[in-house]
Amino acid sequence: SKGTHHKKVEFYNVELDKKLIQNEQAKRAIEKAIQDDEIVPFFQPKININTNKIEGAEALARWITKAGIIIPPSDFIPLSEKTGLIHEIDFIILEKTLRFLRKCLDDGINCTPISINFSRMHLMSHDFIVRLISKINEYQIPPKLIEIELTETVIFDNYQIIEDFINHLHEHGLQISMDDFGSGYSSLNMLKDIEIDVIKFDRGFLQDTQKSERQKVILSAITNMAVGLGIKVVVEGVETQENVNLMKEYGCTIAQGYYYAKPMPIDQFEIIFKEGK
Ligand code: C2E
Ligand code: CA
Ligand code: CA
Ligand code: CA
Repeated sequence: SKGTHHKKVEFYNVELDKKLIQNEQAKRAIEKAIQDDEIVPFFQPKININTNKIEGAEALARWITKAGIIIPPSDFIPLSEKTGLIHEIDFIILEKTLRFLRKCLDDGINCTPISINFSRMHLMSHDFIVRLISKINEYQIPPKLIEIELTETVIFDNYQIIEDFINHLHEHGLQISMDDFGSGYSSLNMLKDIEIDVIKFDRGFLQDTQKSERQKVILSAITNMAVGLGIKVVVEGVETQENVNLMKEYGCTIAQGYYYAKPMPIDQFEIIFKEGK
C-alpha cells in the first residue's frame, strides 16, 4: 500500500542522513587533524635481499592523535579522497619527506629515493605538477630522489592522460612507480607505451605463487622482461624467509615488507637510513 511505501522511503532517508552526518563529522575531524599537524609520514625501507642494504623507502601516511593513537590510512584516506582533502594530505606527506631528505643531504648522507603515494584525484588537477616541482625546488632536492607511486588501475583508466602526465614528470627528472602491479588489470601491454621506472608487485602475488607453478613461470617472465626494459622490480608484503627464497627464484632483488621492517616514525627511520642498512 501507499502507506508502507512511504514509510520505507523515510527509513532510507534517515539512514542516508545519518551517514551524511557521520561523514561530515569525520571530514571535520580530518580537517582539524591537518590544522593541528597530526598527519605524518612513516617510512618503510626497501631492502636489497642480497646485500641487506637500503635501496629506498616508501612514505606512508599516519594520523597520530593528541592521545598518541596511530590511525592507519585505511581509516581516513578514502573519505579524504571523496572530500578532496587528499590533495592537502598528499602534499603534507611530500613536504615532510622533502624536509627529511634536506636534513639528510645536509648531514652528508648518501640518500636513496623515497616514494610518495599520490591519489588518482591529482590527475584531475592542472596545477599538480607545477605545485610538485615548486615544492621539490623549494627544498632543493634532486628530483631523482622522489618516486611517484601511482596505482595500476589509475594508469589503466586514463591511458592517454597518464602517458602525457608521466612524460611530463619524467621531463622534470622524477621517477615513476606502478603500485599494486598484478592486483588488477595488469596489462603488460601498457609497458610498451608508458615508461615506468619501477613496478611494485602486489603482496597478493607472493601468496598466490606459493600455490601455483604457473604463477611462478609468469612472475619470473615478468621479472625478466622488466629487467630487460630497465624497470626496477620491488616486491611488497615480504613477510617470511620463504617469501625471500621465492624472490630469489624469480630474480627479484628489492623487498619491502614486515620481514625486514614495518613502516616506522621518522626518528627511528633516520638512524637506519644513515647507516644504509
Ligand atoms: P600501499 O601503497 O599499497 O602501501 C603498502 C601497504 O602495505 C602499507 O599499508 C604497508 O604498511 C603495508 N605493508 C608493508 N609491508 C607489509 C607486509 O609485510 N605485510 C602486510 N600485510 N602489509 C604490509 P598502509 O600504510 O596501511 O597503507 C595502506 C594504503 O593507504 C597504501 O597502500 C596506500 O594506497 C594508501 N596510502 C598510504 N599513505 C598514503 C598517502 O600519503 N597518500 C595516499 N594517497 N595514499 C596513501
Ligand atoms: Ca604505495
Ligand atoms: Ca602497494
Ligand atoms: Ca609513448
